[in-house]
Amino acid sequence: MNEDKGIQMKSVTLNIKTNTHTEMQEITDRVQEAVSDSGIENGICMLFVPHTTAAVTINENADPDVVRDFIMELDKIVPWDDGYHHFEGNSAAHLKASIIGFSEHIIVENGRLQLGTWQGIYFCEYDGPRSRKLKIKIMED
Ligand code: ZN
Repeated sequence: MNEDKGIQMKSVTLNIKTNTHTEMQEITDRVQEAVSDSGIENGICMLFVPHTTAAVTINENADPDVVRDFIMELDKIVPWDDGYHHFEGNSAAHLKASIIGFSEHIIVENGRLQLGTWQGIYFCEYDGPRSRKLKIKIMED
């Protein structure tokens, strides 16, 4: 909180339960709810995944086959078994998480995430099922 300028910041942590080994779980409504609850009308919503085998991204939410293709093609780029050295056996999950990334920023106007018509926010699990966290910070203009 910047008291001098009256700028507000709100922090929220979402608990996300993933259900399968690899999945893209749409969380758009949950993020919008956090923005609405913050009372911040205009600013930036930052998302951060505090894990090494999960990620967050924005992509099409109209046709579920986009998500299926996403998962299918990423599996080709980074196969689960490929002579990796990491003792835990989940190097593919670490690699996919870094490829997709651990954060997103979304502009907020009039209390609404300014996503495009076909855009949704996805929590990406690459070594589930697990109980995960997504950290959200909403910063006022
Ligand atoms: Zn590992």
